[in-house]
Amino acid sequence: MIETKGYAAQDAKTPLAPWKFQRREVEAHDIQLDILYCGVCHSDLHQIHNEWGGSIFPMVPGHEIIGRVSKVGKSVKKFKTGDLAGVGCLVDSCRECENCQHGLEQYCTGGPSFTYNSLEQDRKTITYGGYSNMVVVNEDFVLHISEKLPIKGVAPLLCAGITTYSPLRHWKVGKGHKIGILGLGGLGHMAVKFAASFGAEVTMLSTSPSKENDAKRLGAHKFVLTTNEASLKSVKGYFDFIIDTVSAPHDYNLYLSLLKTDGIQICVGVPPTPAQINGFSLLGGRKSLAGSSIGGLPETQEMLDYCAEHNITSDVEIINIKDINSAYVRMLKGDVHYRFVIDMATL
Ligand code: NAP
Ligand code: ZN
Ligand code: ZN
Repeated sequence: MIETKGYAAQDAKTPLAPWKFQRREVEAHDIQLDILYCGVCHSDLHQIHNEWGGSIFPMVPGHEIIGRVSKVGKSVKKFKTGDLAGVGCLVDSCRECENCQHGLEQYCTGGPSFTYNSLEQDRKTITYGGYSNMVVVNEDFVLHISEKLPIKGVAPLLCAGITTYSPLRHWKVGKGHKIGILGLGGLGHMAVKFAASFGAEVTMLSTSPSKENDAKRLGAHKFVLTTNEASLKSVKGYFDFIIDTVSAPHDYNLYLSLLKTDGIQICVGVPPTPAQINGFSLLGGRKSLAGSSIGGLPETQEMLDYCAEHNITSDVEIINIKDINSAYVRMLKGDVHYRFVIDMATL
């Protein structure tokens, strides 16, 4: 076993603090990644507070991991020592079910192994995430990272990036579409960048008037303050798609009313409590409420390559790992511009 340093939540109420734990030795198909940067996702916060239920403690969060390969197993073919590499939300899956066969490992019917707060495929070993100095992962779940982009801004692509890229590609959003992006945080700002890059007309739907200039700088063509009735009225029945990235309970019926006939509201945000949907919000206008979870390995690599080609990265604020708990407080207030990334050298 390899002694590893990290930051962990010991239970749902205690702030994160330094913690030592063990990772497996590098096996034949594994790589060891020395972690340079790790992004901070709102899912980290939901899970350390056990807002979705079933959290496993102690928990080392972090699934937006960038590092350098420091060791490879004897059968590893895809990576060599010194390579820049990334690990996102998945570290393994059954590899046999229909979804795994189609590169949709996130929908593995047997249940994928998530990077933390989850179990390896042996269903016994707990996984620990990227708020740590290194990680050991099977090479099939490791992504190639271009040396072209500033890697601090690449880390958040591993979750915020792929979670917004995947539904935009699945529903073929592009030229001629009007899309609303609900919530300007980590996911929202990547959704704006991708949707604009794919040629759609992008409207930022935000509760924060202070984010208007940033939304436009990121690529939004319009900004609608959702707390202002007149502003909201101007986009009733307007959108082909809405990507809903909101992390807190909110009124889905209100946003469904902004869709045109056959419009689709795609949920990627996962508030702690279930939504109440009025049937009339859907049937008037034949609307759909859909969801999308991260992305599989092939699509994550495609997204990273697209970003390298089109010079797309996340707008980040680099933090010292000692400041992680105050970063969470700011995240809860919507005060993130637009992703915190931990410099792991501070560990
Ligand atoms: P974040 O950076 O905290 O951004 C969330 C944004 O939602 C806030 O910046 C705020 O934007 C808006 N918001 C917050 N409370 C609101 C409220 N009560 N009403 C309306 N808007 C509100 O979070 P994130 O990291 O982007 O994550 C967003 C959600 O996606 C989380 O629930 C996370 O767990 C989930 N997630 C899902 C997946 C997936 O696979 N589907 C992957 C990653 C994350 P404004 O200030 O602009 O209003
Ligand atoms: Zn995430
Ligand atoms: Zn599977």
